[in-house]
Amino acid sequence: MRVVIVGGGMAGLVLARGLLLRGISPTVLERAPAGVVVPGPIMLPFQGYDALQEIGVFDGLRAQGLDIPPLRAGLPVAVGVARQRVLDTLAEGVDVRHDAEVTGLIRDGDGDRVTGVRATVAGDEAEIAADLVVGADGARSAVRGMAGFPAEVYPFDTAQVSWRSPVAPREPFGIHFLPDGRQVTMVGWPEGAAGGWQIPRPPGGADEALAGGFDEFRRRFAALVPVAAEPLAAIDERHWHYREATGVTCDVWWQPGVALIGEALHAMNPEAGIGSGLGMGDAQALAVAVARNPGDADGACRDWEYWRRPALAPYLAMGSEAVRVVRGGDPRPEEIWPP
Ligand SMILES: Cc1cc2nc3c(=O)[nH]c(=O)nc-3n(C[C@H](O)[C@H](O)[C@H](O)COP(=O)(O)OP(=O)(O)OC[C@H]3O[C@@H](n4cnc5c(N)ncnc54)[C@H](O)[C@@H]3O)c2cc1C
Repeated sequence: MRVVIVGGGMAGLVLARGLLLRGISPTVLERAPAGVVVPGPIMLPFQGYDALQEIGVFDGLRAQGLDIPPLRAGLPVAVGVARQRVLDTLAEGVDVRHDAEVTGLIRDGDGDRVTGVRATVAGDEAEIAADLVVGADGARSAVRGMAGFPAEVYPFDTAQVSWRSPVAPREPFGIHFLPDGRQVTMVGWPEGAAGGWQIPRPPGGADEALAGGFDEFRRRFAALVPVAAEPLAAIDERHWHYREATGVTCDVWWQPGVALIGEALHAMNPEAGIGSGLGMGDAQALAVAVARNPGDADGACRDWEYWRRPALAPYLAMGSEAVRVVRGGDPRPEEIWPP
């Protein structure tokens, strides 16, 4: 089966590796140029372990990261590791065409079926035929829009004031739950640490969120998450950012010739720390389904949805708020940001 995967993020690359494992060689079209480095860490969550183990990269990635407790049956709940290292590892052996932006879908004469993509590849227009186009192109998925999948795309009601430091922490993880369950979190990896204070999304955006100044932010953050003190002491406001994230809910998973996986299909608030794992699980299930339905893309998509929906259902039903530990009561003055 000719499979074109749009997007060389974690979901797209895990799908590519899962297909290669089964003797199917997909093409991955990635709009970013080759060599772009995605900075910072990812907390690889246990929801992605099966997929990573199947393609033989889990142990290597774990060895290059930090185990995040608690451990169960010898495995940590997550592994803190450099994002780019994960992407580079997953891309090994995969036909990734960089600087390749998908701009349109090709349909058959009746328009009922997607039969390929139009793309700008290194500045040239190209048409690439496919039996199955997989949109693994993230929360703002172009494939989802071009295929006309009905989706809800929305900003979350919380945002993050975040930082990144080249100093690794003494412990791999620290978290403080605010009275309403929002988090102040630090995650470490061998080459550094990153943190985020989840705040109600301020009407004034970054100006309002950062108005209290970095020194005061750092002082309050370290008081709530003491293990972050050393990494925070090593940086200044150039490593300090405001971020909003986009949520996606989409109930249509595929149509003839085109399917969505990862954040193109379901984007959760980063506070959940499981988005990559859910995308990897989508990818693994789709790779199995494609291999079990040779020459039948619709059969593959049907099987995939049938298997995967029950696995995703609890996450989609509970949403990101499921990770909140609500203490109740009023926040102490030092728990309020911006001040
Ligand atoms: C601040 C933050 C922290 C997070 N922390 C964690 C965490 O600790 N643990 C965790 O599990 N998850 C975390 N997540 C979520 C996680 O990053 C995502 O779930 C995951 O990266 C999504 O992977 P994806 O492959 O679905 O999409 P993406 O990573 O968005 O990849 C999509 C790819 O498609 C490409 N693309 C887009 N449009 C086109 C086009 N038209 N043509 C060609 N290519 C295209 C993009 O360039 C991109 O490379 C976090 C998210 C954020 C924002």
